[in-house]
Amino acid sequence: MTTYRNLIGGEWVVSTSARRFTNINPANTDDIIGEVPLATCAEAVAAVEAAAMAFQTWRKTPAPQRGAIVSRAAQIMSERREQIARVLTREEGKILTEARGELQRSINIAEFCGSQGRRLGGETIPLELADNFGYTFRQPLGVVALVTPWNFPVAIPVWKIAPALVSGNTVVFKPATLTPESAELIAQCFIDAGLPPGVLNIVFGSGAEVGTAIIDHPAVRAVSFTGSTEIGLGVYRQAAARGIRAQCEMGGKNPVIVMEDADLDLAVAGVANGAFGSTGQRCTATSRVILMHPVADAFLEKIVDSASKMRLGNGLEDGIDMGPSIDESQMSKVLEYIDVAKGEGAELLFGGQRASEGALSKGFFVQPTIFDRVRPEMRIHCEEVFGPVLSVIRVESFEEAMAVANSSEFGLTSSIYTRDMTRVFRYIDEIETGITHVNSPTLGGEAQMPFGGMKNTGIGPREQGSEVFNFYTETKAVYIDYTGAKREGKLY
Ligand code: NAD
Repeated sequence: MTTYRNLIGGEWVVSTSARRFTNINPANTDDIIGEVPLATCAEAVAAVEAAAMAFQTWRKTPAPQRGAIVSRAAQIMSERREQIARVLTREEGKILTEARGELQRSINIAEFCGSQGRRLGGETIPLELADNFGYTFRQPLGVVALVTPWNFPVAIPVWKIAPALVSGNTVVFKPATLTPESAELIAQCFIDAGLPPGVLNIVFGSGAEVGTAIIDHPAVRAVSFTGSTEIGLGVYRQAAARGIRAQCEMGGKNPVIVMEDADLDLAVAGVANGAFGSTGQRCTATSRVILMHPVADAFLEKIVDSASKMRLGNGLEDGIDMGPSIDESQMSKVLEYIDVAKGEGAELLFGGQRASEGALSKGFFVQPTIFDRVRPEMRIHCEEVFGPVLSVIRVESFEEAMAVANSSEFGLTSSIYTRDMTRVFRYIDEIETGITHVNSPTLGGEAQMPFGGMKNTGIGPREQGSEVFNFYTETKAVYIDYTGAKREGKLY
């Protein structure tokens, strides 16, 4: 059994902590994968100090060279894709094809960020003063703290680590405790690509303890967090109290609108993928489908049929469509929401129970679940479930569909299925989400496109795309006076 180690100052070191967390395969609890010691605050501080020391040299390394190391890490990730994907499936539970997709996305992100090392420029700006030259350039912030969730244990760390490093920052990375091996393997790709010691550090442990210790350390200049809304808002407050930058990507309650002219088979496939793919444990999962009344019954007949054909099981085996919840507490949370929805009067169309036939009894499986006649005021419509549960809301008009879609505190992603271009453009203009799709699922995001949400989902500059470098750098404004004369007149 593996014991995971912290990465501090270029060395993988076993924690001195006696407190341990067991890494278990959520599809089969007999499969114990490893043990992760929960680091002490002193170890968190040591990681920040190692990063602060490494920053002095790393910031002087030219950005194209930093980018070349990150591009090499992408290449190494590509060579290790299958190995890492299998580890990801074993510890997180998503099926192997989804894990491979996550690896590909991570490789794309690292490639994109690596290439940006050659483009990390500023601007030249005309000045009011004659014979004066004004320009801007970007500089790194210093040590940055990266805090990530378990549901994309490879892609989310990569989409934070890669731009942070290319920008010239050094990193203290606090991965989710539930997925330590994916974090370790990803860090190793960066190290094997030639990252100097101390530039990337990892501390495993409790978010409340080591996460807080890292963010509160005076050397830490920014925090990039992805996770739940409750924790993210706390991280944001903590960062604000220190006056450091924060970027928080949080929960979702993503809607799909299906209009009466939609291609129903396309819509059903997209909604089923969005709702039940990755067991609904994606921030971009489809959790609400808003159906125009004339197509509601036909749509529901098809999606129930699709859900009934899904094969649940260990994602490492062939022919499996859906894996388990990440752990027992997440499974219990999903089952509780199912009870709440029933209690509120939503109509259970399919699923609604733990799946425990045969080998499934060893894992944390919940049936794909569909609730019809959900109303916007119900908790199942408002709160993030993070499981394979789809709420159906029937509406009478496009205006009502938009009002329901926007009646959420979250604003991550959304989609509409229709052939009517007038409606498409109105929808794009009015939908209150940071990402939106037309005639495709609520999922995904390409490396070169900004990722992130509006409202209660996103705080700070967006992740991915070239905007992300705005978060990881600060812009210095430079005035060069080549008149050689004392300045008269304008002095402000
Ligand atoms: P979580 O908020 O419980 O934990 C996220 C990370 O924060 C973990 O590493 C955790 O240890 C750490 N943490 C916990 N308490 C902390 C504290 N007080 N200070 C600092 N760090 C702390 O989230 P989770 O259960 O791991 O992940 C699921 C959530 O992530 C869902 O809400 C999902 O929507 C969200 N998510 C959002 C996006 C996005 O881009 N918007 C992407 C993926 C996941």
